[in-house]
Amino acid sequence: MFKALMLEEKDGRVESSIQQVDEAKLPEGDVTVAVSHSTLNYKDGLILLGQGRLVRQYPHIPGVDFAGTVLDSAHKDWKPGDAVILTGWRVGEARWGGYAEKARVKGDWLVKMPSGLDARRAMAIGTAGFTAMLAVMALEDHGVTPAKGPVLVTGAAGGLGSVATAILAKRGYKTVCSTGRAETHAYLKALGASEIITRESIAKPSGKPLDSEAWAGVIDSVGGTTLATVLPQVMYHGSVASCGLAGGAKLETTVVPFLLRGVNILGIDSVMCPIERRRTAWSRLAMELPVDKLDSTIQTATLETVASFAPEILAGKVRGRVVVEI
Ligand code: NAP
Repeated sequence: MFKALMLEEKDGRVESSIQQVDEAKLPEGDVTVAVSHSTLNYKDGLILLGQGRLVRQYPHIPGVDFAGTVLDSAHKDWKPGDAVILTGWRVGEARWGGYAEKARVKGDWLVKMPSGLDARRAMAIGTAGFTAMLAVMALEDHGVTPAKGPVLVTGAAGGLGSVATAILAKRGYKTVCSTGRAETHAYLKALGASEIITRESIAKPSGKPLDSEAWAGVIDSVGGTTLATVLPQVMYHGSVASCGLAGGAKLETTVVPFLLRGVNILGIDSVMCPIERRRTAWSRLAMELPVDKLDSTIQTATLETVASFAPEILAGKVRGRVVVEI
């Protein structure tokens, strides 16, 4: 038996409780992991509250990422005692996830814990931070360098935005952070923000197809009217890494920035990201993310308390990263 946070659907409502679960009920897979840490992502917030139609089958164990130690393995790459990380692959959505003492997955999905990280810090990064690194890599692949000009991070005080800010600052980018929360300004400065702008200042498109060129790159976790506002502000041949929809999924814009300025919009997907790119991203996170900055982003939850953070993350009120200690 192992302890888990279980979601059940009752009369159309999703309720959570702590339960002891029989190991025989774990899903199919060739590696069983003793989970020590998980985390709370925006998507976990949706799943915990039964929103977004992400979970189709209950009872369900949520938690879209986890870190821990291999207990049993029938996979050639893993043996008991190996320290591993899992993010994505629809774990915690389409199959049972990391809010439990044990998880069973495919060995092909696991990434070895890079040296320099431990399970707590890996989950302080989590899917949100891993996605931030994928966004930085995508901007770099498209020629965005510190010499090209400032990079804007939207939703900067959230999980993805916080890690993106710390990585960009460490790599020497002039990093401009947009936030809706004045109380996070000191936190963002400490992560390395060069300048902070208000969420409102980029929430309403000007209506013109092109505005003054302001950003060599953008890492956007907000989408909606924010993305529509910043696209016409992107510099010639600049790029926008579109990562999230915290402010809305609908994008009303024109093609003019693409046609007259060669602007690129880069879709960032962390869930089905190929394994080689995952390994590159995690080893870069271990090397490039300053540990003191990472630690300053952490709040701690347990299996018993994590569900209480769900309304907060959906309301954009969580600062940085919530690590779940199993
Ligand atoms: P998070 O911690 O909640 O951060 C989102 C931030 O967006 C908030 O902290 C807030 O930042 C800002 N925000 C919230 N509501 C807003 C609104 N109505 N208008 C404008 N800004 C708003 O969530 P996260 O885990 O970092 O994830 C961020 C987004 O990325 C989510 O949409 C998530 O689904 C997505 N995501 C995508 C992938 C992928 O594979 N593409 C992976 C992970 C996450 P401020 O208070 O600083 O303004």
